[in-house]
Amino acid sequence: MQFAPVVKKSGDSGATDFGGDCVCSYEPWLVEASLYLREETLKRGYAAPKIQISACMVEYDSSIVVNYDGSIYKCPAFMSHDSLRIGTLQEGIKEYRASHNMDVWKKDECLDCAYLPICFGGCRQMTLLRTGAIGEVDCRKEFYDLSLEKIIKQDLQYRSRPKS
Ligand code: SF4
Repeated sequence: MQFAPVVKKSGDSGATDFGGDCVCSYEPWLVEASLYLREETLKRGYAAPKIQISACMVEYDSSIVVNYDGSIYKCPAFMSHDSLRIGTLQEGIKEYRASHNMDVWKKDECLDCAYLPICFGGCRQMTLLRTGAIGEVDCRKEFYDLSLEKIIKQDLQYRSRPKS
């Protein structure tokens, strides 16, 4: 079971005042809310996502989304952005490295970061919502600095419990 913050609808213009939608992975309330909800989930005996190697689905060659009209995208959140359509079922997939900034995390800051295996530059949709382009990483360092130890402690406390 996983709770996710409410974000702007795909295709909405970037936030100007952060409004009531979540537009970045380091909003202060996100740490508190996600830890609380994860703990309450585990406490009730439900499974919660484990910390594991993970990256944006854009990074995986085999991950695509096909729209009703046969157009192909790398992420469901991009389906209202014509510029992020990577092809069609009829024509196949075109080059998308530049449009999706595939090397966004290949920089010293990320390559030296202990969180790289669980982040790989974060969520491109968040960056797109915030800035209107996929020009930078959605850095989760602050989020993991504040939450990773607590997440591991939650797992030690709840996952190691004998099943009743
Ligand atoms: S947490 Fe920030 S610095 Fe670390 S890998 Fe992710 S985006 Fe890069």
